[in-house]
Amino acid sequence: MTHSNKHTMLKNLPGIDHLLGVAMQNPDFSDIPRSVIVDSLRNTLEKRRKNILNDIETDISDKAILDKALVLADETIKPRLVNVINATGVVLHTNLGRALLCEDALKNIREVSQSFSNLEMNIKTGKRGIRYEAIDELICELTGAQSAIAVNNNAGAVLLALNTIAKKRQVVVSRGELVEIGGSFRVPDVMSKSGCILKEIGTTNRTHLKDYETAVCDETGLFLKVHASNYTIEGFTASVNLNNLVKLGRDKNIPVMEDLGSGTLIDFSKYGLPFEPTIADSVNSGADIVTFSGDKLLGGPQAGIIVGKKESIDKIKANPLTRALRIDKMTLAALESTLKLYRDEKKAVKKIPTLRMLTIPFKEICKKADLLLKIIQKEIGILADTDLADMDSRPGGGSFPQLNLATRCITIKPHNMSVSKLEAKMRMSTPAIIGRIENNKYILDPRTIQEGQDMIISSTLSRILQKK
Ligand SMILES: *Cc1c(COP(=O)(O)O)cnc(C)c1O
Repeated sequence: MTHSNKHTMLKNLPGIDHLLGVAMQNPDFSDIPRSVIVDSLRNTLEKRRKNILNDIETDISDKAILDKALVLADETIKPRLVNVINATGVVLHTNLGRALLCEDALKNIREVSQSFSNLEMNIKTGKRGIRYEAIDELICELTGAQSAIAVNNNAGAVLLALNTIAKKRQVVVSRGELVEIGGSFRVPDVMSKSGCILKEIGTTNRTHLKDYETAVCDETGLFLKVHASNYTIEGFTASVNLNNLVKLGRDKNIPVMEDLGSGTLIDFSKYGLPFEPTIADSVNSGADIVTFSGDKLLGGPQAGIIVGKKESIDKIKANPLTRALRIDKMTLAALESTLKLYRDEKKAVKKIPTLRMLTIPFKEICKKADLLLKIIQKEIGILADTDLADMDSRPGGGSFPQLNLATRCITIKPHNMSVSKLEAKMRMSTPAIIGRIENNKYILDPRTIQEGQDMIISSTLSRILQKK
C-alpha cells in the first residue's frame, strides 16, 4: 500500500462515537453493558489501525467492525464458570468441581438463602444463637462423636485444629504420612502455617509405635495421623493403627488427631468396594480430633468437618481463627440436607450423586453404555468407528487410591479427523464435554454422565464430525 493509500484508509476508519451510536441501535448488542461495547469497539479499531500500518488487508466497514466487536463483547460477558459434562469416569474430579450436590441440598440452599434464616438466632428464646448448632448435633448423631464443628474446607479444618491444639509445640507425624494432595496442600506446609513444629518419625515405608514413643518430649503437643489419600505404600510396610496410637496418647497424656481427608459415613465394602474405615470407626477408637472433607466421599458441599472430644472441639470453637474459616450459610444448608440423608443409608446411596456413581452396579453401567452407543451411532452413523470397551473408572478426589472400578465405555475413532482434535473440539463446545483418549480412541465413560446428557453428547459429536 502506498503511503497516501494508508493515510486515506486511516482517515476513513470510522470513529468510536459513530460506531457506538450504530451499536446502540443494534438489538444484538442490547444485553451488553455499554462499557463492554466501548472496550470491544476500541480493541477492534486498534487492531484494524495496526493492520493498515502493517499492510495487512483489513475491512474497515461499519459492519465488519461491529461484527468483530460483537464477538469480542460476547466473549467478555460470557460466564467463566460453566457446567461441563464429565465423561471421564472420575467420580470426584477435583478439576471438575468434585462432588455434585443432591437435590435436597440444592433445594435447601435456595430456601435458606432466598429469604432470611435463623442462621444465628435461637428461635425458641429469640436470643442470639450459634451458627454451627443446627449441624453439630446431626454430625454427632451420625459419627458418634461428642462434639463437632464445620468450617470452610478440610485444609482449614486441619490448620485450625493444629493451631488450636498444638501451637508452638511438636506434632509427631510418620514420614509415610507427609502427604501432598493436589492444590498445594502439603502436611509440612500446613504444619508451619499453623504455628506447629513438625516432628517426623519412622521411615517412608515403616513406622512403629516405638517411633512415636521415643519422639515424645516436653515439647510434644500432638500425635497426628494423616490418611494417605492419593497414594499407597506397598511391600515391606508397617504403620501404627489409630487404636494403638490413642492408647499411647493416653499413657503419655498427648492428644491424638487423625486427618481422614475423604471421610466416609458408610461402609463401602457392602457395595463391592474395598473396606475403608468409617468416620465412626476413627471416633470410636478414641481419637481426640478427626477431620474430613464435605465434598469428597461424603458427597456434600465444600466444607471441612471436625469431630471429636468435647474438650478439644470447645477449644477449637473458641479460637479466633475459626471466625476466619467459618462456613457460609449456603454451605451449611447444603451440608445439613446431605447429612440428613445418611440417617437412611439406602436413601443416601440413591440420592447423593457421588455415592450413586461409586456404587452403581456394573450391569447398570452396561445398560447406560448400550443406550448411549445406540444414540451415538444413530447420530454419527458412518463418520466414525464406534464400539464398547470394558475399562476402569476411578473414584478420584483422594479417595480409594489405586482402586479401579469396572466400567464399560464408548470408544470413538473418527474417520475424518484425529482423535486428539475430536477430544479438543468436544472440550471446547458448549457445554464442554470432557472425555479422554486411550489407545488412540476417544473414550466416554457412562459412570459420570448424568441423566439427560446422552442427547447433548451425541448431537455435539454429530455437529463436530460433520463439520470436520
Ligand atoms: C483432601 C484432603 C485434604 C484437604 O481437604 P479439602 O476439603 O480439599 O480442603 C486434607 N487432608 C487430606 C488427607 C486430604 O485427602
